[in-house]
Amino acid sequence: MGKASILVVDDDHAVLNSVERDLRQAYGREYRIHKAESGAQALELINQLKARSETIALFVVDQRMPHMSGVQFLDEARKVFPQARKVLLTAYADTEAAIQAINMVGIDYYLMKPWDPPQEHLYPVLESLLDDWTHTVRLPFEGVRVIGSQWSSTCHEVKDFLARNTIPYRWLDVERDSEAQQLLAFAGLDSPCMPVLFFTDGTVLVEPSLTQLAEKTGLRVRAENPFYDVIIIGAGPSGLSAAVYASFDGLKVLLIERHAPGGQAGNSPKIENYLGFPSGISGEELTRRAVTQARRFGTEILTTQLVQRVRSEGNTKIVTLGDGAEISSKIVLIATGAWFRKLDLPGVERWNGAGVYYGAAHTEAANYKDQDVIVIGAGNAAAQATLFLARFARKVTVLIRGDETDWSQFLDRSIRTHEKVELRFNAELTEIQGEGKIHAVVVEDKQTGESLALPAVAIFVFIGQKPQSDFVADLVMLTPGGHILTGLDLITDGKRPPCWHLDRDPLMLETSVPGIFAAGDVRNGTKHGVAAAVGDGDAAVSLFWQYLSTI
Ligand SMILES: Cc1cc2nc3c(=O)[nH]c(=O)nc-3n(C[C@H](O)[C@H](O)[C@H](O)COP(=O)(O)OP(=O)(O)OC[C@H]3O[C@@H](n4cnc5c(N)ncnc54)[C@H](O)[C@@H]3O)c2cc1C
Repeated sequence: MGKASILVVDDDHAVLNSVERDLRQAYGREYRIHKAESGAQALELINQLKARSETIALFVVDQRMPHMSGVQFLDEARKVFPQARKVLLTAYADTEAAIQAINMVGIDYYLMKPWDPPQEHLYPVLESLLDDWTHTVRLPFEGVRVIGSQWSSTCHEVKDFLARNTIPYRWLDVERDSEAQQLLAFAGLDSPCMPVLFFTDGTVLVEPSLTQLAEKTGLRVRAENPFYDVIIIGAGPSGLSAAVYASFDGLKVLLIERHAPGGQAGNSPKIENYLGFPSGISGEELTRRAVTQARRFGTEILTTQLVQRVRSEGNTKIVTLGDGAEISSKIVLIATGAWFRKLDLPGVERWNGAGVYYGAAHTEAANYKDQDVIVIGAGNAAAQATLFLARFARKVTVLIRGDETDWSQFLDRSIRTHEKVELRFNAELTEIQGEGKIHAVVVEDKQTGESLALPAVAIFVFIGQKPQSDFVADLVMLTPGGHILTGLDLITDGKRPPCWHLDRDPLMLETSVPGIFAAGDVRNGTKHGVAAAVGDGDAAVSLFWQYLSTI
């Protein structure tokens, strides 16, 4: 693979040359720098690059150009290089146009001219965008090749794991890609179990467990030490945030995740409402940044390790992992979030990960190009998935149990005006039809009682969130719905819970067991969402210090 390119477009000669010079100085070694004096010239150039199978990582484009404005050019350019990052160069008077362009053409940033010195105003922005691009674009032959069947849940699990850990991979469908057959023949595998993974060092893994895969790709699966200051269970936004702040404060932190970091947020194609990201940020990207930050401060992160049990012996907490290993700490933070309930339909298990997906859309969306899919749910997660799927699918039908939606106004506008999306209210899925693969679903109208068969090949489920607290149900106090009670929620009629033996009240995020805290969606009374979870994680760390001063 040759170098990717950066393209600068500006009709003002002096500005064009100065941006080109700045870019060449900073990025000339890793990227080819191209320039064009007009939108038309730039479009010709990008079509030539496309024809040569080259790729563009970044567009830096002036808004005010005659004949074709920067936004108009970017609208055309994104059809050719949809993954490229887009920066608009603006004057103060163009700010309104730039903000609108975030929605219209998905620009990633607008830079106000002039930006001297570039080290302060230009490079940090571009570096972050180029870094994002490098991590999101899957360059086919640089990563793992995964051969499998679209209709296998193990294959889905492996793809999801690789994507969630931002490990570049290329999916080769055994039924559709001739390269898959060639590779299998080359490895002497004629009727193998799926998936088969080919690594760049020549290793071939057949149907590996996620732990094997984690080890092979350099992720940590075993703790380095027997004892930590803090063990955090769950690497969603709340666990990651607590890890960042606790290790920043100098605490020795172990973060344990049963799958891959990111939690529910890791499934979000675009988080629009997180402070500081006016163009939104994908859950994958937010996770990658948080994981890097936590590691940088010294957090040790284990993946593919399910915590099965937690117990408290005096001031020591002991955590038991799925493989039987035990690790101890002074403090435990339960940040295990929530997950969607399984559909209550006979025989639905056979479709899990093979046409029916829970809480996930972005790993699978591209596989359902030009096909009909179903989304079930009326919350923000369902809305995001709908819009993301609509980029690929022919039609997305959203089944909503009641007669109204619960998603944000911002998403509502985009959904209701989307030509590929149909909303069905008072609708309930009653049957999945298919053999080997799904080909239709039966939907009942709860008001009329009538049933209707709709063609569909996949169902994405976003209903009935359940807190992930079963593994501590015999340890800490829960609500009947399974949320963990903390702080003042544990005080009834001015009395502390019977199991509480200290002469102080439980701290704000402390559970009914001293030194065990809960944060994020698993906790009772929290406002679900990324910002609230991150806030909880941060708040927990100040409480850790308060707790440590008492033992
Ligand atoms: C598709 C989707 C889109 C969303 N979009 C938005 C959005 O745009 N804006 C917004 O504000 N919110 C959004 N949300 C909601 C938001 O992601 C959640 O509120 C947030 O992730 C909760 O964070 P958390 O850390 O509490 O838990 P989670 O994110 O649920 O993370 C918990 C983690 O704990 C792990 N875990 C569970 N049990 C164990 C165990 N026993 N051992 C080890 N690990 C365990 C899980 O694997 C998981 O990784 C979205 C949710 C979804 C599903």
